[in-house]
Amino acid sequence: MEHLIFVCPASGQPIDSGVETEISTLLRIRQHQVRVHCPACGESHEWRVRDALLEKAS
Ligand SMILES: [Zn+2]
Repeated sequence: MEHLIFVCPASGQPIDSGVETEISTLLRIRQHQVRVHCPACGESHEWRVRDALLEKAS
């Protein structure tokens, strides 16, 4: 499983969206938008799945 990580546009901090997905699913939903409450700046951000950084969940 991969974690979707997004970069907060306000703070530049990487934010773990809490979304875990398989690569195969990821490729299917890459046009989707994800709305995440950002712990770094306290705002909500919307990102495209394709803009996510991937981090291996260990
Ligand atoms: Zn933020």
